[in-house]
Amino acid sequence: MAIWNLGSINADMVYSMPHLPAAGETLAALRLDRFLGGKGANMSVAATRAGSEVHHIGAVGSDGDWAIERLKAYRAGTEHIVQVEAPTGHAIIAVEPGGENQIILFPGANRLISKDQLNQALDKASAGDILVMQNETNMQAEAAQLGRQMGLRVCYAAAPFDADAVQAVLPYLDFLILNEVEAQQLQQAIGKSPGQIGIKDVIVTLGSKGARHIDGETGAVLDVPALPVTAVDTTGAGDTFTGYVLSGLDRGLAMAEAMDQASRASALMVTRHGTADVIPELAEVQAARF
Ligand code: ADP
Repeated sequence: MAIWNLGSINADMVYSMPHLPAAGETLAALRLDRFLGGKGANMSVAATRAGSEVHHIGAVGSDGDWAIERLKAYRAGTEHIVQVEAPTGHAIIAVEPGGENQIILFPGANRLISKDQLNQALDKASAGDILVMQNETNMQAEAAQLGRQMGLRVCYAAAPFDADAVQAVLPYLDFLILNEVEAQQLQQAIGKSPGQIGIKDVIVTLGSKGARHIDGETGAVLDVPALPVTAVDTTGAGDTFTGYVLSGLDRGLAMAEAMDQASRASALMVTRHGTADVIPELAEVQAARF
């Protein structure tokens, strides 16, 4: 089986600042670090590190060769990533001592995925494969609809939350994953809790309180605790959880086991600074003692 990920690819440009610049202020950065990021890329890396075959469907600009090379080096399939005439998506992140930040997000190439590109990629998928999307690209509803028609297991991470975007894909979903805030936002938008929509598998991640699976058909609830760790950077925790849980299902694990592995992987992740580059390998997750 394989995982098909219609997902964003970003350069996270992290500028270490003496303090966050005020309006109208010009301020030199002390240091610049560039990381591979974007929820899509993070999920692809998490699922490959968990042991799955992953095909990333996405777009970068002519300045994005490095991102493709890095995804390739991390063993994700890059044959369905195209280069388009727009800058690679990027986040300009200013961080001051103490960790407070300001972020400018430029979606760029991530919003220029074509229907032809999507069709060509999914043409290679087989019934039973997993299709995952997040809300950082275009073509989400088209992909969800096509995936459903083809018998793929269609999964959506409703992040960043947008009521219209999630409602456009809801009719086609087998699996919905959201964090606690996104679950509240969805309830406000549609007047139903995520478990009442009729989607078979719903996961709400609850940060340091763990994660909850709700069987949308039977109403059965499964709670998985978070592991006791000292968190230093929670960026990418949700993406790691999603990539690991989907890979677990792809590798034939039961939901409870897949969530347990995802919980361990994301607990390790929050003890590390960084995003895609530092997502743990399955062997590290299995060897970790909490
Ligand atoms: P998001 O990053 O999307 O906001 P969460 O904050 O809910 O998602 O985190 C996703 C998962 O990461 C949680 O369900 C949990 O398993 C793990 N996690 C997050 N924060 C911690 C923490 N402080 N300690 C241990 N595990 C954590």
